[in-house]
Amino acid sequence: MSAIDGLPPLREVIRTHGLAAKKSLGQNFLLDLNLTARIARIPGDLSSASVLEVGPGPGGLTRGLLAEGAGRVLAIEKDARCLPALADVAAAYPGRLEVIEGDALDVDPLAHLAPPIHIVANLPYNVGTELLTRWLSPASWPPYWASLTLMFQQEVAERIVARPGTKAYGRLAVLAQWRCDARIALRLPPGAFTPPPKVSSAVVHLRPLAEPRYPADPEMLSRVVAMAFNQRRKMLRAALKGLGGDVEALLSSAGIQPTERAEQVPIEGFAALARAVSDRDRLPGT
Ligand code: SAM
Repeated sequence: MSAIDGLPPLREVIRTHGLAAKKSLGQNFLLDLNLTARIARIPGDLSSASVLEVGPGPGGLTRGLLAEGAGRVLAIEKDARCLPALADVAAAYPGRLEVIEGDALDVDPLAHLAPPIHIVANLPYNVGTELLTRWLSPASWPPYWASLTLMFQQEVAERIVARPGTKAYGRLAVLAQWRCDARIALRLPPGAFTPPPKVSSAVVHLRPLAEPRYPADPEMLSRVVAMAFNQRRKMLRAALKGLGGDVEALLSSAGIQPTERAEQVPIEGFAALARAVSDRDRLPGT
């Protein structure tokens, strides 16, 4: 018996329910309940909050969240094989865990949970960045979620928290840090998972700011940043040709040298550029 919740150890759960890891579903399980409890503590007190967990698998992180006092957890799992194991977890924590079988990309958490909602997940690698991009680009800001605590491959985590002037700095860094505080809360070696992945992992913690750091239209910002980093080795006057018109004038009105490259421009500069393009496009006859 496990000391934390009276449920069997995860290795036994996996054996009993035949949960051999499937690569196609990004399955690398966390089996150490002390570790999952540590991850569950990163967002802070969850007792009066709701938690959305994507991909609970055999339930290690889910058990960590519930043992640490999360008031209500909604867990979305694509692999039907995991449902009986998750039903046992739900029975051990009556009324606190709801499990939905399905693809997290298709489920609207607000149909099931009331804010404040903390999102905590050891994400499947194949949909991790897609989900993060969606959570960072809601229709209105602040978003419905109160924090994101997400496990990624370390390389992706580094890209989310990257500073200007570094190789890792790019679209993800601008998207994440324009409207959130983002930090790496925990680093984990491959051996922390079963089976061990090829690379290290890290947990990123993001908290939304009440307002963006710098004003800009989200879609325009996303467009200029995508264009700038799509050809990150080129000078911006060339990389941003697709903006049309006098690109050098746009850049200089945003305080950016036309000879700079995307990775040298801080978020403030991209926001200024997005505003300059929006202003230009609003003017008649341009
Ligand atoms: N949370 C568990 C843990 O920490 O041990 C499992 C993490 S494992 C990296 C990713 C989990 O996400 C797997 O259980 C997998 O079946 C599930 N998954 C993969 N794609 C999914 C999707 N699109 N929607 C929901 N769950 C998904």
